[in-house]
Amino acid sequence: MIVAPKIRGFICTTAHPEGCAKHVAEQIAVVKSRGLIPNGPKKVLVIGSSTGYGLSSRIAAAFGAGASTMGVFFERAGEEDRTATAGWYNTAAFEKAAQAEGLYARSFNGDAFSDAVKAEVIEAIKADLGQVDCVIYSLASPRRTDPKTGEVYKSVLKPIGETYTNKNLNTTTGVVNEVSIEPAQGDDIPQTVAVMGGEDWEMWMDALQAANVLAPGVQTVSYSYIGPEVTWPIYKNGTIGKAKEDLERVQRALDAKLAPLNGKAWVSVNKALVTQASSAIPVVPLYISLLYKVMKAQGTHEDTIEQMDRLFRDRLYNGNPQPDEAGRIRVDDWEMEAGVQSLVGQRWTEVNTDNLSEYGDFAGYQASFLRLFGFGLEGVDYAADTNPVVAIPSLG
Ligand code: NAD
Repeated sequence: MIVAPKIRGFICTTAHPEGCAKHVAEQIAVVKSRGLIPNGPKKVLVIGSSTGYGLSSRIAAAFGAGASTMGVFFERAGEEDRTATAGWYNTAAFEKAAQAEGLYARSFNGDAFSDAVKAEVIEAIKADLGQVDCVIYSLASPRRTDPKTGEVYKSVLKPIGETYTNKNLNTTTGVVNEVSIEPAQGDDIPQTVAVMGGEDWEMWMDALQAANVLAPGVQTVSYSYIGPEVTWPIYKNGTIGKAKEDLERVQRALDAKLAPLNGKAWVSVNKALVTQASSAIPVVPLYISLLYKVMKAQGTHEDTIEQMDRLFRDRLYNGNPQPDEAGRIRVDDWEMEAGVQSLVGQRWTEVNTDNLSEYGDFAGYQASFLRLFGFGLEGVDYAADTNPVVAIPSLG
């Protein structure tokens, strides 16, 4: 079939197999161009490994440090007349590239929140790797089924206490308008914390530790975001921010639990970037458009792969993680630099539909979004017939 993007709001319902493979190949090339990561991880489990920050983490570990990797994700395979999700094609391409270099890679497609998937991954670690020395937790999901009670929790992106009104970008039309978001009600906060907070990260680490599949010196990292004040009502001080606070609670708990192994748990605060998860957050896409323009002009712009390469190379495995006062790793440091923020802040007050392309990088935003689904990559023939059914080698 000929595969074209089909965009519905902030979701693209198609993905291009060769385009996704090219996107993965480009990320691998970035990591390789920086050389080997000395003393990097050797056996890595990535939970949420098929897109965004998790995919880039897996690529950085495998192609930067030569690590064996296991990846867990929730994706849909392709059918004769329907494309797979991007994460499916990404993983197929990742595994083929890993195999070509003799790197072990095995993937699990299922609900990472469930006990069954945890048990399956633990058995696989025992059988194939013995233990893992690094566990990356990079899930982003709108809901979670509690493995003990069966209750389905739903996360919401809402401010807390009062209605939040600010500028917003329609990422399909390029219109800058205003959005008002009603505050959290009822059990919105605990529901969001149950989905995007640390409970499941802790369940994973407890299960892995109880099964004795964590190696001495193991490191585990979960990803967070803080960002500028203009987004705080919807992010840092909103329902999702409460979930991210909960990650820090779990990080401290895991530090204590991992102490006998000389292990360490981290929360890494990453840069705001276009991913499937971030494009669903109100206000943030306009901020990202302004941010990209400033950071690209300064030469400090990074995408997920550069961020994750820097996390492994310059923080986790160089003996100098440079934690902030709260003990978090900050690879959002270049985003949060005062000069960058003051320019973005000034443009925020002035930006409107007419001057968006002058003040912001809306074209860059849209191109990044399409690339997530394998569209707009150089060297891919989008007019050619392509087979949407692609196998992930380790899934058979
Ligand atoms: P993403 O949507 O690209 O990736 C989410 C991953 O989770 C995918 O691999 C998906 O398959 C997997 N997943 C979702 N539900 C699952 C389930 N039930 N079982 C198994 N796998 C499941 O998202 P992302 O933006 O890379 O987000 C990853 C983390 O990084 C999140 O914690 C997010 O808050 C954080 N973060 C994102 C940004 C940003 O700007 N995108 C910035 C800082 C931190």
